[in-house]
Amino acid sequence: MNALAEKVSKMLVSKEAHPQMTEIEVKGCVIGGKQLVIIAGPCAIETEELLKETAFKVRGAGAGMLRGGAFKPRTSPYSFQGLGVVGLETLAKIGESMNMPVITEIMDSEDIPIVAEHADILQVGARNMHNFSLLKKLGRIDKPVMLKRGMSATIEEWLLAAEYILAGGNGQVILCERGIRSAERWTRNTLDLSAAALAKELTHLPVIVDPSHGTGVRSLVAPMAKAAIAAGTDGLIIEVHPHPEKALSDGEQSLTPKQFSLLMRELEPVANAMGRRVR
Ligand code: PEP
Ligand code: MN
Repeated sequence: MNALAEKVSKMLVSKEAHPQMTEIEVKGCVIGGKQLVIIAGPCAIETEELLKETAFKVRGAGAGMLRGGAFKPRTSPYSFQGLGVVGLETLAKIGESMNMPVITEIMDSEDIPIVAEHADILQVGARNMHNFSLLKKLGRIDKPVMLKRGMSATIEEWLLAAEYILAGGNGQVILCERGIRSAERWTRNTLDLSAAALAKELTHLPVIVDPSHGTGVRSLVAPMAKAAIAAGTDGLIIEVHPHPEKALSDGEQSLTPKQFSLLMRELEPVANAMGRRVR
Protein backbone atom coordinates (compact mmCIF):
# COMPACT_ATOMS: atom_id res chain seq x y z
CA MET A 1 0.00 0.00 0.00
CA ASN A 2 1.46 3.38 -0.91
CA ALA A 3 1.62 6.28 1.54
CA LEU A 4 -1.59 7.98 0.35
CA ALA A 5 -3.61 4.74 0.38
CA GLU A 6 -2.29 3.99 3.86
CA LYS A 7 -3.30 7.43 5.12
CA VAL A 8 -6.74 7.21 3.51
CA SER A 9 -7.32 3.72 4.95
CA LYS A 10 -7.55 5.31 8.43
CA MET A 11 -10.16 7.84 7.33
CA LEU A 12 -13.96 7.69 7.36
CA VAL A 13 -14.01 8.21 3.58
CA SER A 14 -12.10 4.95 3.06
CA LYS A 15 -13.38 1.61 1.92
CA GLU A 16 -11.74 0.17 5.03
CA ALA A 17 -14.08 2.25 7.20
CA HIS A 18 -17.11 1.56 4.99
CA PRO A 19 -16.68 -1.47 2.72
CA GLN A 20 -20.04 -0.97 1.02
CA MET A 21 -20.10 1.77 -1.64
CA THR A 22 -22.30 4.66 -0.54
CA GLU A 23 -25.47 5.24 -2.53
CA ILE A 24 -27.33 8.48 -1.95
CA GLU A 25 -31.00 8.71 -2.80
CA VAL A 26 -32.83 11.95 -3.42
CA LYS A 27 -36.44 11.84 -4.53
CA GLY A 28 -36.00 8.50 -6.29
CA CYS A 29 -32.73 9.51 -7.97
CA VAL A 30 -29.85 7.30 -6.78
CA ILE A 31 -26.28 8.62 -6.90
CA GLY A 32 -23.65 5.90 -6.85
CA GLY A 33 -25.83 3.16 -8.32
CA LYS A 34 -25.68 1.37 -11.67
CA GLN A 35 -27.51 4.22 -13.34
CA LEU A 36 -25.36 7.30 -13.83
CA VAL A 37 -26.81 10.54 -12.51
CA ILE A 38 -26.76 13.36 -15.03
CA ILE A 39 -27.23 16.77 -13.46
CA ALA A 40 -27.90 19.58 -15.92
CA GLY A 41 -29.01 23.19 -15.89
CA PRO A 42 -27.74 26.73 -16.10
CA CYS A 43 -24.70 28.03 -14.26
CA ALA A 44 -26.99 30.58 -12.58
CA ILE A 45 -30.74 30.86 -12.20
CA GLU A 46 -31.55 33.97 -14.27
CA THR A 47 -35.32 34.02 -14.74
CA GLU A 48 -38.13 31.58 -14.00
CA GLU A 49 -38.94 31.28 -17.71
CA LEU A 50 -35.36 30.42 -18.68
CA LEU A 51 -35.03 27.87 -15.89
CA LYS A 52 -38.33 26.29 -16.80
CA GLU A 53 -37.37 26.00 -20.47
CA THR A 54 -33.96 24.55 -19.56
CA ALA A 55 -35.44 22.07 -17.06
CA PHE A 56 -38.07 20.93 -19.52
CA LYS A 57 -35.48 20.32 -22.24
CA VAL A 58 -32.80 18.64 -20.12
CA ARG A 59 -35.40 16.42 -18.49
CA GLY A 60 -36.67 15.44 -21.92
CA ALA A 61 -33.11 14.54 -22.92
CA GLY A 62 -32.77 12.28 -19.86
CA ALA A 63 -31.18 14.43 -17.13
CA GLY A 64 -32.14 13.19 -13.67
CA MET A 65 -31.43 16.30 -11.67
CA LEU A 66 -31.55 20.08 -12.15
CA ARG A 67 -28.72 22.44 -11.25
CA GLY A 68 -28.73 26.23 -10.93
CA GLY A 69 -26.78 28.70 -8.82
CA ALA A 70 -28.58 31.27 -6.68
CA PHE A 71 -25.52 32.42 -4.71
CA LYS A 72 -22.75 32.74 -7.27
CA PRO A 73 -19.04 32.88 -6.34
CA ARG A 74 -17.89 35.36 -9.01
CA THR A 75 -14.28 36.40 -9.43
CA SER A 76 -15.34 40.05 -9.77
CA PRO A 77 -17.70 41.74 -7.29
CA TYR A 78 -19.15 43.63 -10.28
CA SER A 79 -20.29 40.45 -12.06
CA PHE A 80 -23.81 39.02 -11.64
CA GLN A 81 -23.94 37.58 -8.13
CA GLY A 82 -27.06 35.43 -8.54
CA LEU A 83 -30.67 35.98 -7.50
CA GLY A 84 -30.16 34.79 -3.92
CA VAL A 85 -33.29 33.65 -2.08
CA VAL A 86 -35.54 34.45 -5.06
CA GLY A 87 -33.34 32.12 -7.10
CA LEU A 88 -33.69 29.37 -4.50
CA GLU A 89 -37.46 29.72 -4.55
CA THR A 90 -37.50 29.58 -8.34
CA LEU A 91 -35.28 26.50 -8.38
CA ALA A 92 -37.43 24.67 -5.83
CA LYS A 93 -40.60 25.59 -7.70
CA ILE A 94 -39.35 24.45 -11.10
CA GLY A 95 -37.78 21.31 -9.65
CA GLU A 96 -41.05 20.38 -8.03
CA SER A 97 -43.16 21.10 -11.10
CA MET A 98 -40.77 19.07 -13.30
CA ASN A 99 -40.42 16.32 -10.69
CA MET A 100 -36.63 16.75 -10.65
CA PRO A 101 -34.43 16.93 -7.53
CA VAL A 102 -32.37 20.13 -7.42
CA ILE A 103 -28.82 21.07 -6.44
CA THR A 104 -27.44 24.54 -5.70
CA GLU A 105 -24.35 26.09 -4.15
CA ILE A 106 -24.06 27.06 -0.51
CA MET A 107 -21.51 29.85 -0.02
CA ASP A 108 -22.16 31.15 3.50
CA SER A 109 -22.94 29.01 6.54
CA GLU A 110 -25.57 31.59 7.53
CA ASP A 111 -27.57 30.44 4.51
CA ILE A 112 -27.55 26.71 5.34
CA PRO A 113 -31.15 26.66 6.66
CA ILE A 114 -32.65 28.48 3.68
CA VAL A 115 -30.61 26.55 1.09
CA ALA A 116 -31.38 23.21 2.79
CA GLU A 117 -35.07 24.14 2.77
CA HIS A 118 -35.09 24.65 -1.01
CA ALA A 119 -32.45 22.23 -2.36
CA ASP A 120 -32.14 18.45 -2.32
CA ILE A 121 -28.34 18.56 -2.46
CA LEU A 122 -26.09 21.38 -1.24
CA GLN A 123 -23.06 22.08 -3.42
CA VAL A 124 -19.82 23.29 -1.88
CA GLY A 125 -17.99 25.14 -4.63
CA ALA A 126 -14.31 24.86 -5.46
CA ARG A 127 -13.61 28.18 -3.76
CA ASN A 128 -15.07 26.96 -0.47
CA MET A 129 -13.51 23.51 -0.32
CA HIS A 130 -11.09 24.82 2.28
CA ASN A 131 -13.77 26.63 4.31
CA PHE A 132 -13.54 24.31 7.28
CA SER A 133 -16.10 26.09 9.43
CA LEU A 134 -18.66 25.72 6.59
CA LEU A 135 -17.69 22.04 6.18
CA LYS A 136 -18.10 21.41 9.93
CA LYS A 137 -21.58 22.94 9.86
CA LEU A 138 -22.52 20.84 6.81
CA GLY A 139 -21.43 17.81 8.84
CA ARG A 140 -24.33 18.46 11.16
CA ILE A 141 -27.15 18.62 8.60
CA ASP A 142 -29.26 15.78 7.30
CA LYS A 143 -28.93 16.57 3.57
CA PRO A 144 -26.50 15.34 0.93
CA VAL A 145 -23.54 17.59 0.16
CA MET A 146 -21.63 17.63 -3.13
CA LEU A 147 -18.07 18.71 -2.43
CA LYS A 148 -16.20 20.17 -5.36
CA ARG A 149 -12.44 19.85 -5.41
CA GLY A 150 -10.65 23.14 -4.81
CA MET A 151 -8.98 24.50 -7.92
CA SER A 152 -5.53 24.06 -6.37
CA ALA A 153 -6.30 21.28 -3.93
CA THR A 154 -4.43 18.00 -3.84
CA ILE A 155 -6.48 14.80 -3.82
CA GLU A 156 -5.50 14.35 -0.17
CA GLU A 157 -6.78 17.83 0.75
CA TRP A 158 -10.03 17.11 -1.11
CA LEU A 159 -10.58 13.84 0.74
CA LEU A 160 -9.73 15.51 4.05
CA ALA A 161 -12.33 18.19 3.29
CA ALA A 162 -14.88 15.39 2.78
CA GLU A 163 -13.65 13.88 6.03
CA TYR A 164 -14.71 17.07 7.86
CA ILE A 165 -18.32 16.52 6.77
CA LEU A 166 -18.28 12.79 7.56
CA ALA A 167 -16.62 13.37 10.93
CA GLY A 168 -19.47 15.73 11.82
CA GLY A 169 -21.93 12.88 11.33
CA ASN A 170 -23.17 13.54 7.78
CA GLY A 171 -22.29 10.51 5.66
CA GLN A 172 -24.13 11.77 2.58
CA VAL A 173 -21.16 13.22 0.69
CA ILE A 174 -20.62 13.23 -3.06
CA LEU A 175 -17.18 14.13 -4.42
CA CYS A 176 -16.96 16.30 -7.54
CA GLU A 177 -13.87 16.72 -9.71
CA ARG A 178 -14.14 20.05 -11.55
CA GLY A 179 -10.64 20.67 -12.85
CA ILE A 180 -7.57 22.20 -11.30
CA ARG A 181 -5.28 25.11 -12.17
CA SER A 182 -2.29 24.15 -14.25
CA ALA A 183 0.17 25.89 -16.56
CA GLU A 184 -2.38 25.53 -19.37
CA ARG A 185 -4.22 28.65 -20.53
CA TRP A 186 -6.24 27.46 -23.51
CA THR A 187 -8.59 25.65 -21.17
CA ARG A 188 -10.11 27.22 -18.05
CA ASN A 189 -8.99 24.34 -15.82
CA THR A 190 -7.31 20.99 -16.35
CA LEU A 191 -9.86 18.25 -15.74
CA ASP A 192 -8.10 15.68 -13.58
CA LEU A 193 -9.82 12.42 -14.40
CA SER A 194 -7.12 10.50 -12.57
CA ALA A 195 -8.40 12.17 -9.38
CA ALA A 196 -11.92 10.93 -10.10
CA ALA A 197 -10.63 7.39 -10.73
CA LEU A 198 -8.45 7.49 -7.61
CA ALA A 199 -11.31 8.78 -5.47
CA LYS A 200 -13.39 5.82 -6.67
CA GLU A 201 -10.52 3.47 -5.85
CA LEU A 202 -9.82 4.82 -2.37
CA THR A 203 -13.22 5.90 -1.06
CA HIS A 204 -16.75 4.59 -0.75
CA LEU A 205 -18.24 7.93 -1.82
CA PRO A 206 -19.98 8.60 -5.16
CA VAL A 207 -17.91 10.68 -7.58
CA ILE A 208 -19.32 13.16 -10.08
CA VAL A 209 -17.32 14.91 -12.82
CA ASP A 210 -17.94 18.46 -14.03
CA PRO A 211 -16.64 18.73 -17.62
CA SER A 212 -18.09 22.26 -17.94
CA HIS A 213 -15.90 24.00 -15.34
CA GLY A 214 -13.27 21.30 -15.94
CA THR A 215 -12.59 22.68 -19.41
CA GLY A 216 -14.39 26.02 -19.73
CA VAL A 217 -14.78 25.27 -23.44
CA ARG A 218 -18.12 24.15 -24.93
CA SER A 219 -16.58 21.87 -27.57
CA LEU A 220 -14.60 19.98 -24.91
CA VAL A 221 -17.58 19.17 -22.68
CA ALA A 222 -18.73 16.15 -24.73
CA PRO A 223 -15.35 14.42 -25.11
CA MET A 224 -14.54 14.93 -21.43
CA ALA A 225 -18.00 13.73 -20.36
CA LYS A 226 -17.41 10.48 -22.25
CA ALA A 227 -13.90 10.15 -20.84
CA ALA A 228 -15.25 10.72 -17.30
CA ILE A 229 -17.71 7.84 -17.69
CA ALA A 230 -14.91 5.63 -19.01
CA ALA A 231 -12.88 6.62 -15.93
CA GLY A 232 -15.61 5.21 -13.69
CA THR A 233 -17.47 8.30 -12.51
CA ASP A 234 -20.97 7.93 -11.06
CA GLY A 235 -22.36 10.90 -12.92
CA LEU A 236 -21.85 14.26 -14.54
CA ILE A 237 -22.84 17.85 -13.84
CA ILE A 238 -23.20 19.85 -17.04
CA GLU A 239 -24.10 23.48 -17.67
CA VAL A 240 -26.89 24.02 -20.19
CA HIS A 241 -28.40 27.34 -21.28
CA PRO A 242 -31.01 27.96 -24.01
CA HIS A 243 -29.01 30.99 -25.22
CA PRO A 244 -25.39 30.55 -24.08
CA GLU A 245 -24.33 33.77 -25.83
CA LYS A 246 -26.66 35.73 -23.55
CA ALA A 247 -25.92 33.81 -20.32
CA LEU A 248 -25.08 35.96 -17.30
CA SER A 249 -22.30 33.53 -16.35
CA ASP A 250 -20.28 30.72 -17.95
CA GLY A 251 -21.93 30.99 -21.40
CA GLU A 252 -18.75 29.90 -23.19
CA GLN A 253 -18.84 26.50 -21.49
CA SER A 254 -22.63 26.01 -21.58
CA LEU A 255 -24.23 23.58 -24.02
CA THR A 256 -27.45 24.43 -25.81
CA PRO A 257 -30.32 22.05 -24.99
CA LYS A 258 -29.87 20.53 -28.46
CA GLN A 259 -26.17 19.87 -27.89
CA PHE A 260 -27.01 18.38 -24.49
CA SER A 261 -29.60 16.10 -26.00
CA LEU A 262 -27.12 14.87 -28.64
CA LEU A 263 -24.52 14.30 -25.93
CA MET A 264 -26.97 12.23 -23.88
CA ARG A 265 -27.44 9.89 -26.83
CA GLU A 266 -23.67 9.61 -27.30
CA LEU A 267 -23.14 8.80 -23.63
CA GLU A 268 -25.39 5.76 -23.70
CA PRO A 269 -22.96 3.32 -25.44
CA VAL A 270 -20.05 4.58 -23.32
CA ALA A 271 -22.06 3.97 -20.16
CA ASN A 272 -23.12 0.54 -21.40
CA ALA A 273 -19.50 -0.39 -22.09
CA MET A 274 -18.82 0.39 -18.42
CA GLY A 275 -21.76 -1.71 -17.27
CA ARG A 276 -23.76 1.43 -16.44
CA ARG A 277 -26.90 3.12 -17.76
CA VAL A 278 -27.66 6.74 -18.56
CA ARG A 279 -31.40 6.35 -18.12
C1 PEP B 1 -20.65 26.20 -10.53
O1 PEP B 1 -20.96 25.00 -10.42
O2 PEP B 1 -21.31 27.02 -11.19
C2 PEP B 1 -19.38 26.66 -9.92
C3 PEP B 1 -19.21 27.92 -9.56
O3 PEP B 1 -18.46 25.68 -9.82
P1 PEP B 1 -16.99 25.68 -9.18
O4 PEP B 1 -17.17 25.89 -7.71
O5 PEP B 1 -16.49 24.32 -9.53
O6 PEP B 1 -16.20 26.77 -9.85
MN1 MN C 1 -20.67 27.93 -13.64
